[in-house]
Amino acid sequence: MRFARYLDHGTARYGVIVDDAIHPIGGATTLVEAAGGTFPVSSVERLPLADVVLDCPVLPLVRNPFCVGWNYVDHFAEGAAARGQAGAQELPERPAFFTKATTAIIGPAQAITPHPDVSDTLDWEVELAVVIGSGGHDIPEERALDVVLGYAVANDVSARSVQREHGGQWFRGKSLDGTSPIGPWVVSPDEFGAPVDQAITCRVNGETVQSATLADLHFGVARVIAELSRGLTLLPGDVILTGTPSGVGFARTPPRFLVAGDVVESEIAGIGTLRNAVRG
Ligand code: MG
Repeated sequence: MRFARYLDHGTARYGVIVDDAIHPIGGATTLVEAAGGTFPVSSVERLPLADVVLDCPVLPLVRNPFCVGWNYVDHFAEGAAARGQAGAQELPERPAFFTKATTAIIGPAQAITPHPDVSDTLDWEVELAVVIGSGGHDIPEERALDVVLGYAVANDVSARSVQREHGGQWFRGKSLDGTSPIGPWVVSPDEFGAPVDQAITCRVNGETVQSATLADLHFGVARVIAELSRGLTLLPGDVILTGTPSGVGFARTPPRFLVAGDVVESEIAGIGTLRNAVRG
């Protein structure tokens, strides 16, 4: 199933997408409730997707989304090379984690806020987002996919200069207000399948800048959930961004960053496409 959050005269509601229309879910106030099966899905009311403004399906978040750094080998290598450290660093034995402020998150078609007074090095990072359903801690890798509510597309838009200015850590540069889309809806595992080798792509102004498959994930989704939940309780509704493939702007020659008017399209086969312009 595909669960969407949409605006009905300014009020957020949830629904199930069937073909090209949304069937509202009555009474649900969170994605976890909407997907839980206790609220009725209208078989009568049917809103054509073309007439609906989709909102970010994972809002409101229970806390900051978790994020994984360096999870595609090619992206690890391009980052090291861009810092003049090609071949100097070993791949990590365990995933690197950080979080992103909830106020950074925007909807699937909302404009990205550029913050030119803070940074002129805004960069793209298409990623698979995992939404946790049942939660728990010390979740074994072999059962980890059982706690997944669904999958979405994300773009971990990052202000590179801000990353460097604050001790080289990730949080601050990945948390600017209104920069990171997640959506366009959440696809349940029974429809998406396991994250195996689905294509993951980012285009800027129609040009493909990132192209990989989920088979290129260094730490797969089950391993990420198992590692993150060691002594740390995952909550229903938690979101995990699982890292980005190579092709980001800062590692290009010359480096390329987002400017006002650019259009970023983030796509994962079997889920859908985000289309976010950079606000002028
Ligand atoms: Mg990232």
